[in-house]
This record gives sequence, structure tokens and C-alpha cells, in this order.
Amino acid sequence: MNNRYYGKLIFELSKPGRVGYSLPYNHCDTHHLAEIPEQLKRKQAAKLPEVDELTVVRHYTNMSNNNFGVDTGFYPLGSCTMKYNPKINEEICNLPEFTSLHPLQPDCTIQGALEVYYNVQKSLAEIAGLSEFTLNPFAGAHGELTGLMTMRTYHMKRGDLKRTKVIVPDSAHGTNPASAAVCGLEVVEVKSTPEGTIDVDDLKPLLDDTIAGIMMTNPNTLGIFEKEIPEIAKLVHACGGLLYYDGANLNPLLGKCRPGDMGFDIMHINLHKTFSTPHGGGGPGSGPIGVRAGLEEYLPNPRVRKTNEGKFMVDFDKNSLGSISGFLGNFAVVLRAYAYILTLGKENVKMVGPLATLNANYVKESLKSHYLLPIEGICKHEFVFDGLIDKSTDVTTLDVAKRLLDYGFHAPTIYFPMLFHQALMIEPTENESKETLDEFIAIMKKIAEEAISDPDNVKSAPHNTPVRRLDDTLAAKHPIVTYAEMLNDTPSDEA
Ligand SMILES: *Cc1c(COP(=O)(O)O)cnc(C)c1O
Repeated sequence: MNNRYYGKLIFELSKPGRVGYSLPYNHCDTHHLAEIPEQLKRKQAAKLPEVDELTVVRHYTNMSNNNFGVDTGFYPLGSCTMKYNPKINEEICNLPEFTSLHPLQPDCTIQGALEVYYNVQKSLAEIAGLSEFTLNPFAGAHGELTGLMTMRTYHMKRGDLKRTKVIVPDSAHGTNPASAAVCGLEVVEVKSTPEGTIDVDDLKPLLDDTIAGIMMTNPNTLGIFEKEIPEIAKLVHACGGLLYYDGANLNPLLGKCRPGDMGFDIMHINLHKTFSTPHGGGGPGSGPIGVRAGLEEYLPNPRVRKTNEGKFMVDFDKNSLGSISGFLGNFAVVLRAYAYILTLGKENVKMVGPLATLNANYVKESLKSHYLLPIEGICKHEFVFDGLIDKSTDVTTLDVAKRLLDYGFHAPTIYFPMLFHQALMIEPTENESKETLDEFIAIMKKIAEEAISDPDNVKSAPHNTPVRRLDDTLAAKHPIVTYAEMLNDTPSDEA
């Protein structure tokens, strides 16, 4: 950070005539290559930075050092499960035997890849307590949509066309109502009790023959286990609806209990959260969905099946809801998940949930002297504070999050879920050592004390980062993505 290259754009390092490459003379016969039409040819050279190779290497290396990731520090981003992604997963999914595959190859030439698909489908089914999985969806939200389409297909194939509503709790992740809307279902909200779980009395009057199902997250976004789940499952099934489980964050349950055993009919899992794929930059992802026995035929095409002769094949089902992805989804993410599951093995997978839960409760109990804990009791993998206890200096959750950056920690999730005004959602994950957690706890307490002794310093944080407080809204609505725009140049089509 404190070097003279920092903050300079590659264009500012440009010197006319300087080059960083040399290409051999083109010996190809260019005679029969298509001519570029005259009107499409450049009149002037493109305005590119003119730099030598060393400058380029330093520029990008320094820029990469400004990244924050799980590999550089503690990343307690609630609901996102930023757990460590073991490097062996990367090595395996980068093997040339995998990277050089093509999805249009005949089944007989990709038996190994199909076996990986098949085994991951089977492993997830066992972990979830469901009958069958598809790995086709590309993300959690995509899995939700596919799961809801499965739900709709099930009702429609039975000729039950009235079921056009889906119940979603007020604490749900934003993708839940969004996926329901994209699926053409009407969203009906069910309220939470003061303890943060679904209010069964509020649910009962909503249940009738227009309900396709309910979407639930368990533990919910507050990190609280829905204890009424057997009752809720009974009520929803009695009215003819299905139970959908948002299993984006399966971490707390891994090896402890199974959504299928709780009465859920359909679920999705985020491989990129629970099964260890780097996902900080918005991808790549994979959101497999699983269904209970009786719903398998509605899963999307294509499917991977094992024949009686022990061969693996890509298959199509005539009752399927159709296709939701090109080919079989995100193979590289599936490979990482497979490597992760096999590395842990059956015995160690069982330790993920208990350790994630232990770490979250340790941090929660250690910090509730300084931060407002709106819901007491044991949490699962994550928990939510409602800002600082001492609100006399109006230091907000945003200020605390910004100040954490000065101390080298990633900020927790803030202002979600929207049940509390100053929500601060922390998920330490199972990987972190007690030393790291203790360091984080000490810094969080220090910030709470600074909020009283020197509130202005907290409110103006961060002080040590490459950039200070950004206008997130402006950055999202009017992003400046070219150098010409930054110089307030009118970008020309030559650039
Ligand atoms: C992350 C998350 C999702 C959405 O997953 P994407 O892969 O980002 O689409 C859905 N529900 C919950 C509870 C989540 O945490």
C-alpha cells in the first residue's frame, strides 16, 4: 500500500512509445483471411497505456494486494459463509483432464466426469435426507427458482391449478420473494415472533387451497433454529402445500440433522457457501436442488443416471419441468465440492455444524456486554446484534463496520435482516482458530469503547484503507468504468 505505485492508474504510468511485448513475424499466409471492411477499420491507434512488462507486473501485483479475501484475513460476513477454501480443491478442478472436457462429448468419453456428478448427487441426497439431487442450477437464487418451478410442476401435473401463492417469512433472504415472483407466484408474508421464529398463529389463517407451499430457512437468517418445524410441516402438508428449504447456509446443520427428516420436500444448497468454492466476487456458483421421493421426475433436464451395467449416462425425463441451464451446470464448482466432501470424509463432515455453532456462540457471548443482543439464547452458525448497547453517541452499525476495516478485519453483514434498525450479522465459520476469534472480540470491544471516548474518529473511519467512505449508491448507479470518463472526457468510439 505504501509504495509509489499505489493509487496510480495504468494509464498514468504510460510513456509514449514504450512497449512490453515483442511478437514474432507472422509467417502465416494471410491471403485467404477475410478482409475487414473499410468502414470498420480504425482510423487511429487505440488509446491504450504504453508500458513495459515490469510496470504492468508491479501495477497488477500491487492492485491484487489491495484485495481482501478469506486468504488474507478474518471475514465474518453473515449469511455468506466465507469459509476457507482448501487449495487442493483448486488443484483438482484445474487438472487438464477436467478443464479440457467439452459438454458435447459423447457420454462414453466422459464417464469419469459423469461419475463425479453422480457421486455428488448421491452425497448431497444423503447429507440432506432427500431422494434425489440435480446439480444444474448456477446459484442459490437459481436453485430457489428451480425448486419453486418443481413445486409448480408438481401441482400442475396433478391438475391443481389454484395454487398460485407461496408463503415467505419476513426474515427471509431477499432472493426468496424475488424467486417466487420470477416463478409467477404471489408472495404472502408470514410474521416472526419476538423470539425471531415463524409465528405459527400468524401462519394458520394463511393456509388454504391456493397455497403452493412455504419457503423457509432453518436456522433462519437470525441464526435461530425453527423449533416449531414439525408443527409447521404438518399444517402446510395438511393444506396440500409443499415445504421448500433455503439451504444456502447448510453449514450449521452439516452432519447434525437433515432437512428431509424435518419434513421438507424440496431444497437448494449453495455449493459455493457450504461446500467451499471461492465466491467473494459474485461467482462462480452452484445451487443444486434436492427433492423427496415422489418428486424426482419433475427435476430439470438433463439428468445424470447410472445404468444397471454401472455406466453413467446423461438422460432426459419426459415429466421434467424442462431445462434451466446449458448442459449440466457448473462442473468446476461441483468438482470442488466433491474434493471438499471427500477430504473431510463422513466422520469429519459431522464436525462442521457443531464447530460453526460453537464459534458463533463464543463470539456472541463474548460481545453481548458491548453490543445489543436482541434475541438471547443459543444461536447456530451466525447471530445478529442490534448495534451498540451505548447509543448515546449515535455511532451506528455502519461506523463500526468501517472502523473494523482499519483493524484489518472484513466487516460483518450490516442492515440485514431488516428486523432490526442497526443489524450487525456475524458468522465466524468453523475454520477460525480461538486466537483469531479472540483478536476479533478484543477489537470489537475496543471499537465499542472508542465509540464513547472518541466517536468522531469512529464516525470518520476508515482511516488506513486505500479509499475512505465511498458513496455506494452513486457508485452503483453511475459507475465510472473507463479512464476517459474519469478524466471527464467524452469517451470517443476510438477509445
Ligand atoms: C446467499 C443466500 C441465497 C442466495 O444465493 P446466491 O448464490 O447468492 O444466489 C439465498 N438464501 C440465503 C439464506 C443466502 O444466504
